[in-house]
Amino acid sequence: MAQDNITDNIIEEKFRLADAHCDTATVLTPWRLAFGGRESQLDLARLIGRSKLQFMACWLSGGADLTPDEAMRRLRQHLLDLRYAAALSGEAELLGDLSAAGESGKVQLLPALEGLDYLGGDWRRVDKLYEWGFRSFRSFGLFWNHDSFLGCGAAANQTPAKDHGLTAAGRELVLHLALEERLVDLAHASEQSFWQAAELLQSKSRPLFVSHACCRALCGHWRNLTDEQLRAVGESGGMVGIALVPQFLQASGAADISDWARHAAHAAKLAGAEHVCLGSDFDGVDRLPAGIGGVEDAGVLYRALLSAGFDAAGARGVMGENLLRFLRRY
Ligand SMILES: [Zn+2]
Repeated sequence: MAQDNITDNIIEEKFRLADAHCDTATVLTPWRLAFGGRESQLDLARLIGRSKLQFMACWLSGGADLTPDEAMRRLRQHLLDLRYAAALSGEAELLGDLSAAGESGKVQLLPALEGLDYLGGDWRRVDKLYEWGFRSFRSFGLFWNHDSFLGCGAAANQTPAKDHGLTAAGRELVLHLALEERLVDLAHASEQSFWQAAELLQSKSRPLFVSHACCRALCGHWRNLTDEQLRAVGESGGMVGIALVPQFLQASGAADISDWARHAAHAAKLAGAEHVCLGSDFDGVDRLPAGIGGVEDAGVLYRALLSAGFDAAGARGVMGENLLRFLRRY
């Protein structure tokens, strides 16, 4: 047993963790985020010494019902809270310059927007955040599941005849973000929206990014990516984060970490091993797959990847190196 523990520690030291999605910022106060959330699956105290970079989604509950001014105030509050939590911890910082991803002794936090339905029909409001000086907002998730003034979200995949893809406003926003070299996150986009955004992004030589999803070929959930989409992500030089969402991993919802590793291996086969990362969705799910309780157990994911056939370099890539490299090149 003692021998096993020593081996475990050595293995854990061999990867740098980077995660393309979590919802923790929406469930913890800054104090709890910094020092520990009793009920959460992640906090900065647990990231320190373990993680190089963590996306922090700033999702607004009931977004479409907020006035644009109220939504913008809440986004500003989210960013101030993140900055405050990072300062409280003393070991974390907001990442502004993607080219510095992974190159800090501190845990880098990357604020991300998820669903932009609260922009009140005017996508130009995304630039307000920049005018306020919040240049660390680098990732823009166009949709949550439902349709918005930007187009169709992933829920439309359940009724493909109603999937009309992007609206004119949605297309304008994708082009704007591409020209500004900001990340366009296509998690939660419908298939038509995905393909239309892909065409626009590729016309500007920008890679495709899907922060958290799994593989439709292994589990038919409408939030998951088809093999064609996975291939397109890889061909664009992009990145897909494989989520720890039981319903995305197993139709029955009874999933364990070997299912997560199986999805990562399938995505690697279609997109290429260097185009797959962790997109945990910590604190976006009530229940994680069996075998993992929170970010403190990241070592079990690494070992599950090895068991699923990844070599050590491939597993290190999925656990962090691939995402860090992608962001530095973006
Ligand atoms: Zn999500």
